[in-house]
Amino acid sequence: MIFSAYSPRLYPDEHILSAVSRLARLMGEKHLDTAFQDMKDDNHIFLPGAILRPWYHHIASLFPAMDLEELINRHTLWRYYKPFMLPAINRVPNPDTWSTYYNKRSQWLPSKQVRIRHAQYWRWCTDCVESDADSFGIPYWHCSHQIPAITHCKKHNRQLVGSCLNCGFSIKKLHPHLRPSTFPECPECGQLFNEFIPEDKHGLVNWLSDTSSAIFNGCNTFDWERHKLKIITNHDLKLLNSSSSVSDRKHYASKRKLLESGLEKDVIEWLFTLPRNHQSSQTNSAIDLKILLSDQLFPPLSYLIVMWVLHTQAETHRIAS
Ligand SMILES: [Zn+2]
Ligand SMILES: [Zn+2]
Repeated sequence: MIFSAYSPRLYPDEHILSAVSRLARLMGEKHLDTAFQDMKDDNHIFLPGAILRPWYHHIASLFPAMDLEELINRHTLWRYYKPFMLPAINRVPNPDTWSTYYNKRSQWLPSKQVRIRHAQYWRWCTDCVESDADSFGIPYWHCSHQIPAITHCKKHNRQLVGSCLNCGFSIKKLHPHLRPSTFPECPECGQLFNEFIPEDKHGLVNWLSDTSSAIFNGCNTFDWERHKLKIITNHDLKLLNSSSSVSDRKHYASKRKLLESGLEKDVIEWLFTLPRNHQSSQTNSAIDLKILLSDQLFPPLSYLIVMWVLHTQAETHRIAS
């Protein structure tokens, strides 16, 4: 690492990659991966969707005033993913063990996370850009704006932007010269960012946004393991195998149909990147009964959607309130 003599400031809710990208810019670097040699071990992919990266540990030495637990809790999306970990994890695990959670690309990424639309690019709030510039002299990338399914900035109630419906523009990889902009227009085609959010149509969108926000902000009462077990018990769910009986198969198929019927197409298309010829939620393997019974980690958004459809209203409403 070439900048170890410098310690960039981290602003409230700032993502660690934002601070490091700013540091690279101050040092006159054009690319993050040339600025930080260690990045070559991290696939040069800087999407906001990965949970922890080896590199977060490597750069922790840039922030000597903060221990790793505090750094990861305050400046990554860890708090959002933590309650869903398998097995359950309360604290940031020892970095020596992180590699056991990685996939082939050295990323700690939930299975099917590539389907989660809002985990594939960086989002921002145009009002935060102004207020951050006023308060800190610089706009930066917020952690809370990168949580999938959160639709609005909590502070300003402003819709988050980052993807252009007209030309497809989005920021997938942070670059030292990229900063969130005050302008609500797409920098490529000039059209207003007016990302369609199917709110009002389905309470699911608002619930997901509120619940995701509550989890990220440390809602202590949220116990995913308990909810999951209740859903499995209430619906008598069992994973099918080659020796499953006909009645078990029928039961499973009926529950799958129940799940599918509770999902509105426009909401799912807004939240997920689906195969081109998809026709139903069955073609979206990120929303499937199997995710409740699997020992693999799936995206929190997938669990929350299944929970919304299959759990009792009293339970789901209690979380976000
Ligand atoms: Zn804001
Ligand atoms: Zn555009």
